[in-house]
Amino acid sequence: MSRVIFHHPTGSPQASAQEGGILDTRGRPMRDLRISVTDRCNFRCTYCMPREVFGADHVFLPHEALLTFEEIARVAQVAAGLGVRKIRLTGGEPLMRKQLEVLVGLLAGLRTPDGAPLDISLTTNGALLARKAQALADAGLRRVTVSLDALDDALFRRMSDGGVGVAAVLEGIEAAVHAGLAPVKINMVVRKGMNDAQILPMARHFRGSGHILRFIEYMDVGNTNGWRMDEVLTGAQIVRIIGDEFPLEPVDAGYRGEVAARWAYRDGGGEIGLITSVSQPFCGDCTRMRLSPEGRLFTCLFAEQGHDLRGLLRMGADDAALAARMGGVWRARADRYSELRGTAHRDHKIEMSYIGG
Ligand code: SAM
Ligand code: SF4
Ligand code: SF4
Repeated sequence: MSRVIFHHPTGSPQASAQEGGILDTRGRPMRDLRISVTDRCNFRCTYCMPREVFGADHVFLPHEALLTFEEIARVAQVAAGLGVRKIRLTGGEPLMRKQLEVLVGLLAGLRTPDGAPLDISLTTNGALLARKAQALADAGLRRVTVSLDALDDALFRRMSDGGVGVAAVLEGIEAAVHAGLAPVKINMVVRKGMNDAQILPMARHFRGSGHILRFIEYMDVGNTNGWRMDEVLTGAQIVRIIGDEFPLEPVDAGYRGEVAARWAYRDGGGEIGLITSVSQPFCGDCTRMRLSPEGRLFTCLFAEQGHDLRGLLRMGADDAALAARMGGVWRARADRYSELRGTAHRDHKIEMSYIGG
């Protein structure tokens, strides 16, 4: 059987410096800001917020602890001055944050030092998307990623545990298309023994739809999902499963920092993506800074500690002070957890539902 090799783009630190912005200790520029707007969610996905841990007595952040939309927009503007070009809103479930379109509107008004708008996108479980898509698009949202782990309704309900069926998520996807947010990316986390039998049904369903289905290797994020390596189906295995039915060919990555390895159906049926964080980590190209709901900066999905910005914001710090703090955190960044997985021990990782994917 032939080995499938994924090519992730690489860029030189010099090239990045010429593009402007600051570099971390491994020469990676800060290009993306992932903003988690809430730690709450209307789902209880077994691999992210298992109900045994996130039950009725779980204490979520109080509203006053969350950054306000104005505070978030200020951080985003300072980040744009440091090199950020893309913003992704996430959570928890970002559509649980009331009037999220107001934040999208504020972010859409921001400009890079060259006067360009930022690229603003959203990752959602889709349950509330049908009713929110148009308002979000009208406010300036450009793209949306919808998570969907199965088409089989009973399995989907078991995995997501939110009392919502597949039909509602598919309706959300269609509403996004109708609102002008196409092509929609669909994220499927594959957990071996749980939903791997849904790989082909998902591929058949979304092939030729214009949507881009992306398969995500199941990761050891957080402390609650009891992750085991033997539950990971690798990107290479997934490509083989789909390729046996629909021949595939690799597509070159569009830009440095693109995390998905892209494959196209040979017959023109569109593309799929593979996010191989476990089998072929892409830390060398990781250009993401993450902002938590209550204003802490994290330089890695697997970080144990964040860096508080809310204190500075609320004591009236000016933009220069914020930029110095954010720039200092990024310049000191050395993270590459996925490359060290197996040798890097973490006592207490942040939860995915707190910091977002
Ligand atoms: N609630 C939104 C959603 O589900 O799309 C946004 C936040 S969620 C934490 C972001 C992404 O992380 C989702 O696509 C989800 O499937 C993925 N995710 C969560 N836990 C994961 C895990 N253990 N391994 C891989 N991906 C995971
Ligand atoms: Fe909620 Fe998204 Fe986590 Fe599922 S993956 S529990 S939808 S935050
Ligand atoms: Fe980026 Fe950390 Fe993931 Fe590596 S492990 S790709 S540094 S978030």
